[in-house]
Amino acid sequence: GATTPPNLLSDLNEDQRIAVTHEGGPLLIVAGAGTGKTTTLTHRVAALIARGADPRRILLLTFTRRAAAEMLQRVEASLRKIDTPSGPSDPRMAARGVVGGTFHAVSARLLRQFGSGVGLPPDFTVVDRADAEDIVNAVRGELELPQKMPKFPKKATCTAVYSRIVNTGVGLTETLENDYPHLIDFSDGLRDLFRSYRERKRAEAVLDYDDLLLYWDQLLADERAGPMLRKQFDHVLVDEYQDTNPLQASILRQLRPDGDGLTVVGDDAQAIYGFRGATVRNILDFTDTFGDATIVPLELNYRSRQPILDLANDVIGGATERLEKNLRASRPDGPRPMLVRAQDEAEQASFIADEVLALTEQGFELRGQAVLFRSSYHSAPLEIELNRRGIPFHKYGGIKFIETAHVKDLVAFLRLAENPRDSLSARRVLTLLPGIGEKSAARLADRLREADHDFAAWDDFNPPAATKEFWPGFVKLLRQLLGADDAWMSVEEQVRAVRLFYDGLIEFVHDHAATRRKDLEQLEVLSARSSDRRSFLTEMTLDPPTSTRELASRPPEEDEDFLTLSTIHSAKGLEFDAVFVMNCYDGAIPSDMSLESDEKIDEERRLCYVALTRARTHLYCCHPLRQYTKRRGLSDAYGFTPLSRFLSGDVQSRFNERSAGGEPLPEKPLSTEPLANVRSAVDQRLDSMWD
Ligand code: ATP
Ligand code: MG
Repeated sequence: GATTPPNLLSDLNEDQRIAVTHEGGPLLIVAGAGTGKTTTLTHRVAALIARGADPRRILLLTFTRRAAAEMLQRVEASLRKIDTPSGPSDPRMAARGVVGGTFHAVSARLLRQFGSGVGLPPDFTVVDRADAEDIVNAVRGELELPQKMPKFPKKATCTAVYSRIVNTGVGLTETLENDYPHLIDFSDGLRDLFRSYRERKRAEAVLDYDDLLLYWDQLLADERAGPMLRKQFDHVLVDEYQDTNPLQASILRQLRPDGDGLTVVGDDAQAIYGFRGATVRNILDFTDTFGDATIVPLELNYRSRQPILDLANDVIGGATERLEKNLRASRPDGPRPMLVRAQDEAEQASFIADEVLALTEQGFELRGQAVLFRSSYHSAPLEIELNRRGIPFHKYGGIKFIETAHVKDLVAFLRLAENPRDSLSARRVLTLLPGIGEKSAARLADRLREADHDFAAWDDFNPPAATKEFWPGFVKLLRQLLGADDAWMSVEEQVRAVRLFYDGLIEFVHDHAATRRKDLEQLEVLSARSSDRRSFLTEMTLDPPTSTRELASRPPEEDEDFLTLSTIHSAKGLEFDAVFVMNCYDGAIPSDMSLESDEKIDEERRLCYVALTRARTHLYCCHPLRQYTKRRGLSDAYGFTPLSRFLSGDVQSRFNERSAGGEPLPEKPLSTEPLANVRSAVDQRLDSMWD
């Protein structure tokens, strides 16, 4: 074939070039943070296109829609550099032709094409994790689980167990033994629950995220469909391979059985989705599966200054299991990472706000700065502080726009019209009406089912007084939506119709009606981008916008400047000039939910490593010395927090330390031990008083 245009290679180092120009067999790039893995992948896609590959036959799998979109932008930018005849005539179209997205989104698209052959009705709906939990909960309520199980696991736990089994392919008993030993007694109940859950989904033509992967995998295994699907793509490239699970690995193996045209990129030190069944083993297994795999290591880190890498290397060096890698910075010196001690979370928040502003004075834009935290709720005090000072920010991770109750309400109308078998949506919209509770909603949903999902089933319903005013409009709306195809209603018009009806109810069901109304207006604007209801619903479920802000900026405004707030998980793959890691204390990093096993603590350590390696120049680890706690068994109190175990000990010498506020730092970092002494001293004194 054609050779790779030199322009594409000029910014790359020798190893990266090898990876970009590699032809044929399976390719594995395993390398540390910031070594240019993603850069290499996007250059490789551009190079493939430049060498004549059909973009539509290139599959680029990433972990979020945002990541996919960003990578395709970078592909486009690379293609623009080739002004020779070998480049595509329109780089933009070429980059857009590439099939990119998450495993789930790609599978959903595929099932729309091939689903009927499998017996999936064309109007199947995809439910997200929260909906899946609600279905599990409904099924759980209907099953008569043995009375002697007063504490049958919660819906979230049940769903997590289910999902883990599907994604790892490890059976129920073994999964319980290995990962949920405290649930072993519930194995019969869980088995019944999972069976009924599956039947319910089938009866209602509903697929959850796990089903999407299962169907894709199964289609590939099929004698007739398999060969067809394999022919669809010549090249399959995967970023963040360390966070794929065994089911996804199986899909890849089936897509490219001999590994030809398969490129995977990952870093075992950044594996942070073990709790979802992802396994680093996938990286190690890659070379077992494909004996002839070419392995390209990348060693030079182009992102972070050396003092930041020294710290990150020390932190990950404490991990029990990992592939040996050492990161070297291409940018040797720079400021040492800062360990900031604050009296409490409020002081931590005001320190961060001050420092963010100080950095902007030094010429760092807000968009080059990020505040990272372990759990979404950690940022609340900071959000208040930023709002107070008028510092614009955008929060990633945590509750998504689509997960807010009012958006779910509105979407439920459309989902019900799309798929009237979906009883979860039926019950959701019914209970919005004043005077209709769970019980009547369930009865009405049953009636609908018995009438073969014809809304005429509700005509002779005699609504209670409180409902009367709304009922005719409600039924009319659903009929209208159901016939929307014939009536030529665009998605936007459908959303507007629901919005106007819902407007009269919103005050009955939610507080903050005004804000919610604004969100729904935004939703209407967003819906205008979809060609039909089905694709709108799928997109909202699989690649939902993360916030109203993301909705509002349409198209993203180039000159908008805002600070990023993000969970560490959602910051994967990103980089910032300045990074603030919040709440660096034991109990947050590592999370106190992880303390039960070494494996989980190791995963927290890798998460810490991910956080530190997002920083290019300035890194601040913030440690509020006291935290308002509401711990099990204890009354509310200010508790002293020890510095994160990952950052204390020898590692601590990598920092410069300072105090956040005016008050001087304690001579030694506070830990709970001296306080325990105080307590026993008080006890002793009291005891001595009785004598
Ligand atoms: P992570 O593990 O965090 O996902 P990564 O290995 O994917 O990181 P990239 O995000 O691709 O790394 O690259 C990190 C930074 O290094 C980016 O700013 C990128 O532009 C830059 N970079 C990559 N390769 C080179 C190079 N050869 N010369 C200069 N800069 C480079
Ligand atoms: Mg990357």
